Amino acid sequence: MDLYEHQGKELFRRYGIPVSDGRVATTPAEARQAAEELGGQVVVKAQVLTGGRGKAGGIKLAATPDEAERHAGAILGMDIGGHVVGRLWIEQASDIEREYYLSLTFDRGVKRPLFMFTTEGGIDIEEVAATQPERLVRLHVDPVEGFQPWHARRLLFGAGVEDPEEQKQVAAIAQKLYECFVACDAMLCEINPLIVKPDGAVHALDSKFTVDDNALYRHPDIAEMRDLDAYPPEERAARAKDVTYVKLDGEVGILGNGAGLVMSTLDVVGLAGGRAANFCDLGGGGDAQGVVDALEVITADPQVRAILFNVFGGITRCDEVARGILQALSQMTIELPIVVRLDGTNAEEGRRLLAEAAPENVHVEPTMLDAARRAVELAA
Ligand code: GDP
Ligand code: MN
Repeated sequence: MDLYEHQGKELFRRYGIPVSDGRVATTPAEARQAAEELGGQVVVKAQVLTGGRGKAGGIKLAATPDEAERHAGAILGMDIGGHVVGRLWIEQASDIEREYYLSLTFDRGVKRPLFMFTTEGGIDIEEVAATQPERLVRLHVDPVEGFQPWHARRLLFGAGVEDPEEQKQVAAIAQKLYECFVACDAMLCEINPLIVKPDGAVHALDSKFTVDDNALYRHPDIAEMRDLDAYPPEERAARAKDVTYVKLDGEVGILGNGAGLVMSTLDVVGLAGGRAANFCDLGGGGDAQGVVDALEVITADPQVRAILFNVFGGITRCDEVARGILQALSQMTIELPIVVRLDGTNAEEGRRLLAEAAPENVHVEPTMLDAARRAVELAA
C-alpha cells in the first residue's frame, strides 16, 4: 500500500525524523486557512500516489494565504500521471541549501533492506544511478544485526559528506529511517530530497512510503490511511466485495483460484496470442456467491470480450465449483462467452455438470492451454 506524502511524513515524525509542520486541505478555502495558521511562506503540494509532482506543476510556493488559495485552486483537479489531485498538503516552506537523497527499500534478491544515499538529490534517482553510479552509495543491512553506527559512517563517507554537524544529523536520520522501516513493515521509505537548510539543519522535504499489504493487519492505524477514492471504481467495488482484482489492458477477463494459478493463466493467455483484461482470484473458495461477486467485478470492465475461468480443484472440489458457476449464471445474465477449464479433485463430475446444465455461452475445455486458446479466439 502506497501512502501519500503527508501520511509518510506523519510516520517519519513519529520516529523522530525532522519534517515541516503542515496541514491537509481539500478546498482552496482550507488551503488559505492552513496557510494562515502556519504563517509565513508555505508550499502547496498535490497529494497523489505518483512521483514527479514538482515537474508537473503540482508543487507551488506561496508567500501569502491569498496566494496559497489561488495555487490550491489551480492544483486541485489537476491530472498528474493519470492521478487526479483531490487533496493538498500545505506546509511551512523551507530554505534549501543542498538536496540529498536517502532511501531504504526491501531488496528481495538478497533478502535484506537496502540503503541508498547520494548528495545528488532532488532529481530522479534513476538518472543518478545511470549517469553517476559512483555517487550513489548502496548498502545492505543484515536484519539480524540491525542498524549499526558503521552503516551510517559507510553511507556518509561513501557519498562524501564532510561537515561533522551534517554527518551527525544524517546518521541519526538514517538510523530512525531504519527503525521506521522495520517497525512499519515498509517495503520502501524514500526521502527525496533530504535537504540541508542554510542554517545547517537536515530535514525530510518529501516522503515516498510503501507498506507491505500482508502486514497491514499489524498496523490498523496505517491500514486506515488507505484512500479509497484513489482507486478506480471497479477496484473499489472489488475491494468492497473482498474480491482480489487487478485491472489490465487486454480483452480476456480471467478468474482463477489461487494467485499462482492466476499468474500462470495470464502467461498461457499470452502464449495463445491474447491479453488479459483483468484478473480475479477466487482464493480457496468457489461457492456461488464468490463466483457471482467475481463475475460481477470482471464483467463491469467494458474491455472484457471473453471470460476464462481456470480452476484447479485441490481442497475445493470441481463439482462444487461447477455448481457455483451454474448457480451464479442462474442469478445473473452474462452474454459474453465463458470458457471453463476444470481440473483436479472431481474434475470429471464438474465437467459433466457443466456440459449438462450450462447455458450455450459456456464452453468447457480439458486443459489450460486449450481453454486459453478458445478464450482468445472467442475474444477476437
Ligand atoms: P516530487 O516532485 O513529487 O518529488 O515532490 P517534492 O516534494 O520532492 O518537491 C519537488 C521539488 O520542489 C523539491 O525538490 C524542491 O526543489 C521544491 N520544493 C518542495 N518543497 C519546497 C520548500 O519548502 N521550499 C523550496 N524552496 N522548494 C521546495
Ligand atoms: Mn520528491
